[in-house]
Amino acid sequence: MSEQAANRGLILVVEDERSIAELQRLYLIREGFGVHIESTGQGALAAVRTMRPVVIVLDIGLDDMDGTEVCRALRAAEDLTPIVFVTARDDEVDRVVGLEIGGDDYLTKPFSPRELVARIRAVLRRVQAPPPATMTVGSVRLDSSARRVRVDDADVELTPTEFDLLAYLMRRPGQVYSRDQLLSAVWGYPGFGSRTVDVHVAQLRGKLGSASPIRTVRGVGYSVETS
Ligand code: CA
Repeated sequence: MSEQAANRGLILVVEDERSIAELQRLYLIREGFGVHIESTGQGALAAVRTMRPVVIVLDIGLDDMDGTEVCRALRAAEDLTPIVFVTARDDEVDRVVGLEIGGDDYLTKPFSPRELVARIRAVLRRVQAPPPATMTVGSVRLDSSARRVRVDDADVELTPTEFDLLAYLMRRPGQVYSRDQLLSAVWGYPGFGSRTVDVHVAQLRGKLGSASPIRTVRGVGYSVETS
C-alpha cells in the first residue's frame, strides 16, 4: 500500500474507508508527495516509527482505536510529526480543537482534495519555517545568522553542509530523521547516497567532540538529544 516517498516527503494517510484513502493518495501523489495508507490506529503507530512521514492525515473514526488516541500515543512518545485530523462530525471537531491533544490542523468530511493539499502545505510551512537565530543544545550553541557554532566559548569551524545538517537537526530536538529526510532537507535530493549523511555526521561528531548532541537511532536515522 505504500509508494516511494517522492521529493516533497512521505504522507501517512490513516483512513479506514478505502475509497477516501485512495482519493487522498491520488491527489497527494499528484502534488509530489509519497503516500502510505494505514487503515488502523495500531498500523499507523507502527508505520510512523518505521517510515517517518512528514505529515500524518489521521481519520478520527477508526475501527481499533480513536484517532485522538493515536495522536496522544505519539505525543506521549515525544513524536512531533505534524497531524492533520479528519473528522466526520461536528462534535468531533469540538474534541479536536477544544482539547490540547497535539494535533496541528483538521479537516471535516467531506473535504475537497484541494483543501487537503492546502492544509498539508500550511502545516509543512509552519514546521519548516526558518529556525530561530540562535539554538542551544547542551554546550553547543548555533547562530544561524552568523553561521557560527560554538562549544562552550570556542568556535568550531564547520563546512557549509555540516553547518546546515547540524542546524536542521537542532531545530527539533528529539525528532528522529531518516537519512532520506536529511538528504531531502539539507542536500535537496532524497534517496541518493545515504552514506553521505553518515559521513557528514561522523565529521560533525569529530569536530564537536564529546559535546556532540547527535544521536544515532538504529535502523532509522539521527536525532539531536533534548537538552
Ligand atoms: Ca472512519
